[in-house]
Amino acid sequence: MRILVTGGAGFIGSHLCERLLNEGHDVICLDNLFTGSRDNIIHLMDSHRFELIRHDIVEPILLEVDRIYNLACPASPVHYQYNPVKTVKTSVMGAINMLGMAKRVKARILQASTSEVYGDPQVHPQTEGYWGNVNPIGIRSCYDEGKRVAETLMMDYHRQNGVDIRIIRIFNTYGPRMAENDGRVVSNFILQALRNQDITVYGDGSQTRSFCYVSDLVEGMIRMMECDNFTGPVNLGNPVENSILEFAQKIITIANSSSKITFKPLPQDDPKQRQPDISLAGARLGWKPLVALDEGLVATAGYFAARIGKG
Ligand code: NAD
Ligand code: UDP
Repeated sequence: MRILVTGGAGFIGSHLCERLLNEGHDVICLDNLFTGSRDNIIHLMDSHRFELIRHDIVEPILLEVDRIYNLACPASPVHYQYNPVKTVKTSVMGAINMLGMAKRVKARILQASTSEVYGDPQVHPQTEGYWGNVNPIGIRSCYDEGKRVAETLMMDYHRQNGVDIRIIRIFNTYGPRMAENDGRVVSNFILQALRNQDITVYGDGSQTRSFCYVSDLVEGMIRMMECDNFTGPVNLGNPVENSILEFAQKIITIANSSSKITFKPLPQDDPKQRQPDISLAGARLGWKPLVALDEGLVATAGYFAARIGKG
């Protein structure tokens, strides 16, 4: 098949492009290289079945493809809050442009949505039936509400125009090729531990997250794209939940680091708890994550160690 991956030069997108190429597909990576980089896909450039198009998804484009994975959107709070208006445009106009293309060329389209549609959740763990607790006017809203509108657009193009859609809600995912400067907890803590610097826990560290290794996520994405008669939304994530303080301690141990933990102010609207209920993905896709947290963190720490010359 000819497959378009928007945001394909980013962290998750680059792993997806690699996997799709390995499966024998033609892959077009569309990216404006805002948070992604050529480094992430340089090893794919030699393949005659791989193509990079430098393009901003906010502008329309027409490509003849069979599948569209719509991932283009900065994902870390530091990056999506850098230019919040652009973040909303990327999610909303990007979804409209990709859905318009899907409608015209009759492609199936998968939208990368997020656990952030649940906001600071009052239902725990989060099931797909939960409508969420999102602040519409806070500093995370440009991302959360942008993704919620992207989901709405997907459903409306499906109901109104019969577009073949899939929606996945991705929970915190980590692995090699996360950007060093993206401010997310996994990259921050690993880099701090490798450099024996203080580990910056925001708040008292009692807030929780559940971390999924990128290869598990990519498997779930492809299963969802290729399954029949199921639009989703479906949660994809690893249900093993850790407090951020426990997570900091785990990383110090894995990196064999002499770092100390230091506490910084908790950012506004930081969700207090997050854990996916993945029963639906299990039932409909036969999917569950396979990579244990320690195993995935060792691989990720190895990647960052090589990046900063400590490998
Ligand atoms: P990332 O920042 O590494 O990748 C995003 C990619 O989109 C980058 O390559 C960036 O350059 C590109 N991009 C951004 N704006 C663009 C625009 N206007 N036009 C074209 N390209 C643009 O982030 P990621 O972690 O790989 O996330 C990928 C997708 O998965 C995003 O849609 C994100 O919202 C979603 N997601 C990720 C996580 C996670 O934990 N990583 C969790 C939930 C959802
Ligand atoms: N966090 C932290 N220290 C850091 C970076 C993040 O304690 O250096 C916390 C952050 O406040 C949040 C959790 O780790 O509670 C996950 O943050 P991240 O930005 O990775 O993702 P998100 O909040 O979007 O889930």
